[in-house]
Amino acid sequence: MLSVVSNSLVLIGCFILLASLAVVRRITRQLPEGRSCKSWCAMSALIVLFVVGYLGYIATFWGQHAAIVDLIVPGIFFFGACFVWFSTYIALQTTLDVMRISDLELETLTDPLTGVYNRRFMEQRLAEEISKARRYCFQLSILLFDLDHFKRINDEHGHQAGDQMLIEICELVKDQLRDSDLLARYGGEEFLVIAPNTGPSEASLLAERLRTRVELNVFLKGHEDSRGNGLRTTISIGMASFDDDNADAETLIGKADRSLYQAKEEGRNRAIGCHDTQTSAGITGIATQAS
Ligand code: GH3
Ligand code: MG
Ligand code: MG
Repeated sequence: MLSVVSNSLVLIGCFILLASLAVVRRITRQLPEGRSCKSWCAMSALIVLFVVGYLGYIATFWGQHAAIVDLIVPGIFFFGACFVWFSTYIALQTTLDVMRISDLELETLTDPLTGVYNRRFMEQRLAEEISKARRYCFQLSILLFDLDHFKRINDEHGHQAGDQMLIEICELVKDQLRDSDLLARYGGEEFLVIAPNTGPSEASLLAERLRTRVELNVFLKGHEDSRGNGLRTTISIGMASFDDDNADAETLIGKADRSLYQAKEEGRNRAIGCHDTQTSAGITGIATQAS
């Protein structure tokens, strides 16, 4: 009888360890590849070793449990397995909670339609980039762009097509940016690029690249008109570069906004730069125009 009890305790312990393996597998599936994922794989290997040890114990001491004290070791095996299962279960719950929190955090930082950063996060990052530029004498530029005659797209092809175009423009622009750059939705169909370590001339090149990429792209495949022409659009861009120790995010955006306004006034589909200097305020004519 004692033998049956002790073997059952160890065997149930084995099943509990196998259940822990399944929990560890769920944890590794949630985690991105990396150090902690590897640690959990090592944990799985340890649990397998434990299972082998438990089975070895049953095989070795089968039918040898005669006194009540002989139940101590199987009891420790059983509660040890419970401990392993409980620890892995808590780890899984914690992992899921952390993932949920980071998803929520991402939702508060990004625009739900396009997936790019939202204005609140952009303003926070711009303030940080400005203070870095000021402290370490880095260059910094911003590009504010707006779709030309976007209302027409909505009117002629519907609001959903307009939404899809915004999504595609963001993908197109993101492809042209460095990892250190940031694209954010400033509002409606206006977007802002923060380009750290980028001076006015580099910003002009970037703006021209974005402008031509958008101009040449065919959007919303399947929305061709009766003559088979695809849907195209253009953007106007206002640029501003930081080199004034007193400038803040608001001032820099204000300058880019004025340049954008000028680009619209001058006929759209162009980029105009407003180079921020201590001695001169206003447009310095870093302008690229569509031919
Ligand atoms: P302009 O060249 O002067 O910029 O002309 P525009 O028609 O693009 O400018 P306007 O600012 O007058 O119109 C912007 C339009 O963008 C109006 C608004 O309905 C549309 N819009 C803003 N946000 C969204 C959106 O999330 N989805 C869609 N489909 N349209 C949007
Ligand atoms: Mg517009
Ligand atoms: Mg607009």
